[in-house]
Amino acid sequence: MDFSTPKHIQLQLDLTDEFVKQQLIPIEQRIIHSDFFKVEAELKALREKVKSMKLWAPHIPASIGGSGESLMQLALLSEVLGQSPLGHYAFGCQAPDAGNIELLHHFGSDQQKQQWMKPLIDGDIRSCFGMTEPDTAGSNPTLLETSAALDGEEWVINGRKWFTSSADGAQFCIVMAVTDLDAAKHQRASMIIVPTDTKGFELVRNLPVMGETGSGYFSHAEVVFKDCRVPKENLIGEQGAGFALAQTRLGPGRIHHCMRWLGICRRALNEMITYAKQRSVSSSFCLSDMQTIQHWIADSAAEIEAARTLVLQTAWQIENVGFKSAKAQVSMIKYFTAGILHKVLDRALQSMGGIGMTDDKIIAYFYRHERAARIYDGPDEVHKGVVARELLR
Ligand SMILES: Cc1cc2nc3c(=O)[nH]c(=O)nc-3n(C[C@H](O)[C@H](O)[C@H](O)COP(=O)(O)OP(=O)(O)OC[C@H]3O[C@@H](n4cnc5c(N)ncnc54)[C@H](O)[C@@H]3O)c2cc1C
Repeated sequence: MDFSTPKHIQLQLDLTDEFVKQQLIPIEQRIIHSDFFKVEAELKALREKVKSMKLWAPHIPASIGGSGESLMQLALLSEVLGQSPLGHYAFGCQAPDAGNIELLHHFGSDQQKQQWMKPLIDGDIRSCFGMTEPDTAGSNPTLLETSAALDGEEWVINGRKWFTSSADGAQFCIVMAVTDLDAAKHQRASMIIVPTDTKGFELVRNLPVMGETGSGYFSHAEVVFKDCRVPKENLIGEQGAGFALAQTRLGPGRIHHCMRWLGICRRALNEMITYAKQRSVSSSFCLSDMQTIQHWIADSAAEIEAARTLVLQTAWQIENVGFKSAKAQVSMIKYFTAGILHKVLDRALQSMGGIGMTDDKIIAYFYRHERAARIYDGPDEVHKGVVARELLR
C-alpha cells in the first residue's frame, strides 16, 4: 500500500501550512481576544488572500465555488488549518457553516441554495445550527421539544436552544424542531431555516465558556424562538427528515473535527518542545533534559500518529466503501482523538508551568475551548456505547 501524499496535494498542504504559520499564528492571540466585529474586516482581508491563492472553501465542490477536495485531502488540510484557531475560518471551511453548506447542497431547494448557500460559500454571511436545548438531554436529541407547527403558509416555531455556536452575527439558523409529535422518534423532527432577523427569534446571551464569553464567530449563544414565523418553504428536505439529514453530515464532519484536533495536538506538542528546550531549570539542565518531559513528548507524538492513522483510515473507508461500513469507526475516532487532544493539551500546559495557564500562550485558549471536544459532536460516552454495542453484537 502506498502511504505517500501525491505531489500536487503536498504542494497545497505546504502552501496552506506556510499561510497558517506566516499570516495567522502571528495575529491569532490579538484576534481571538478582540471583539469579533472589530476585527472582522481584517479577517475578511485574509480571506481574500486565501481566495486569490485558490485555496478557498476546500470542502465545497468546484462546481459551486470551492476547490472541491476529496475527503482524504480535506482531512489533511484540516490538520494543517487546526494549528491556529483562525485556520478554518480564514479558509472558509469553518463549522458550523461547513456542515450547513453541505446540508443545503444535498437537500436544499434551488431557492434556498440561491438565497442562503451561495452567500455562505462566498463567505459573505455566516450561519448557525440550533439543535441542543437547555431543558432536554443533547446526548439524545430525539427528546428535543422545540416545536414547529404549520399555520397556513408558515411554520410557527417555539422553544429554547443553547450552545448555538456562532449565532452572534449569523444571518440564519438551521433549527431542528419537532414537526410531528406522534411520529416514530426518528421522524418527529425537521430542519427549518430561520433568518435571525425574524420577529420572535431572540439571541438571549452568549454563554460564558470557562470564563470566556467571546463574540461573533467565536461564541456560543442561548436562543429563544417565540411564535417565530417563517415561510413553509424554509423547510429543508422532507418534513420529518431532520435526523436522516443530520446523519448525512456526520461522517465528513467528524473527520473534519478529528483532524482539526490533531492539528491542535501538533501545535501543542511543538509549543511544549520549544518551551522545554529554552527553559533552564538548573545551571546545567533545561526542561528538555528531564526524562518526564521527554516521556510526555514521546507519548504525545506516538498518540498523535496513532489517532491520525485511525482517522485517515476512516476517511478512506467512508470515501471508498461508504459511510454505513464505517459507522462504528466514525464513533471510535471521536472519543479516541478527543481523549488524546485532552491529554496532549494537558501535558503541554503542565510542561509550561504558570505561563501555560495564561493567555500569553495559545495553550490556555485551546485548553479552555477544546475541553468541550469530549462533549460536543456527541459526548464520548455515547460513542463508546455505539462501538461497544457493535462489538458485543
Ligand atoms: C463548545 C460547544 C459547542 C457546541 N455547539 C453546538 C451547536 O453549534 N449546535 C448545537 O445544537 N449544539 C451544540 N453543542 C451542544 C452539544 O452538542 C451538547 O452539549 C452535547 O450533545 C451534550 O448534550 P448536553 O449538553 O445536553 O449533555 P447531556 O445530554 O445532559 O449529557 C451529560 C453527560 O451525560 C453523559 N451521558 C449522556 N448520555 C450518555 C450515555 N448514553 N451513556 C453514558 N453517559 C452518557 C455524558 O458524560 C454527557 O457529557 C455545543 C456544545 C459545546 C460545549
